[in-house]
Amino acid sequence: MTHADDHPDKLRDDLRKWVGQNKDLGPDWFLDEGPVAAAEVPPASTVQPAAEAKPSAEPTAEIVAEPAPAPAPAPKPTSQPPAEGPAPAPPISNPEFKKECDDFTEATLGLLAQQPPRQVAADPLLEKHGGDPRHALKDLRDEVLPCRLCKLAETRTQVVFGAGSAHAKVMFIGEAPGRDEDLQGQPFVGASGQLLTKIIEAIGFDRRHIFIGNILKCRPPGNRDPLPDEVMACENFLKRQLAIIQPSIICCLGRVAAQTLLGTDDSLGKLRGSVHFYEGIPVMATYHPAALLRNPAWKRDTWNDVRRLRALYDALQQRRS
Ligand code: SF4
Repeated sequence: MTHADDHPDKLRDDLRKWVGQNKDLGPDWFLDEGPVAAAEVPPASTVQPAAEAKPSAEPTAEIVAEPAPAPAPAPKPTSQPPAEGPAPAPPISNPEFKKECDDFTEATLGLLAQQPPRQVAADPLLEKHGGDPRHALKDLRDEVLPCRLCKLAETRTQVVFGAGSAHAKVMFIGEAPGRDEDLQGQPFVGASGQLLTKIIEAIGFDRRHIFIGNILKCRPPGNRDPLPDEVMACENFLKRQLAIIQPSIICCLGRVAAQTLLGTDDSLGKLRGSVHFYEGIPVMATYHPAALLRNPAWKRDTWNDVRRLRALYDALQQRRS
């Protein structure tokens, strides 16, 4: 009798995944995350990273850190953008993918030129602080931390406002804090957060160059999907973060973040394939890092998604200079 695990189709599928994982197509984060046995990983809605996992990025003066037990030094107040920009983009040796990136960038710039002028009104906190996004963001955080607008306030440990540079040109948005984030008050600090850091670093950024936030600022019990009334109660905080930071590119991590921000029921597969716009800002979507921990074969697609993002970032920077 053939054991289910020995079925030829399964063996072939496992081999295909293994080859995909170990092909020389990307930097370390792509190669060093071996396939995770399904039995060791909870479903996406219940991913609970190991308690001992530590964030790999040390907040710096540009990080808007939370006040609580984050394993990081307190930020030094400054209203200046990061002194150094991101590292150069990783070289793209595959001419077909290079052309794909160029075509994507050109098409996005064309669509961007057709967008109506941004309708996002400047946040009153920006006005209060003379246009300084760092101080405006800190004031907004002070408003959000005591929030009890929805029932998640009853079960959360800490509000997770978000972290990164108030001058960020790229903003990554997930759906909601998980267990480690809820305990530490920081976004993406568990196992999936460490993977996100690797992904960001692989395209030349670090956490000082970007801002990372979530649709919801409090953890849904058991990491379930956000409910419509919770999104409705919380989305204004995200809109205000966007109005203050004014990123040039938004990257949604996972289906829930993308569908919520873009107000669509389209699948992540469909949303990943093209660029979208939120209030005139280009929006891209890719897999949530927690999904990559469960499905390592998706890392290749993610790697391509973030390289396209970096190509678009460079094109936008070039256009400005
Ligand atoms: S999820 Fe948002 S709206 Fe609900 S309590 Fe937390 S901060 Fe307030």
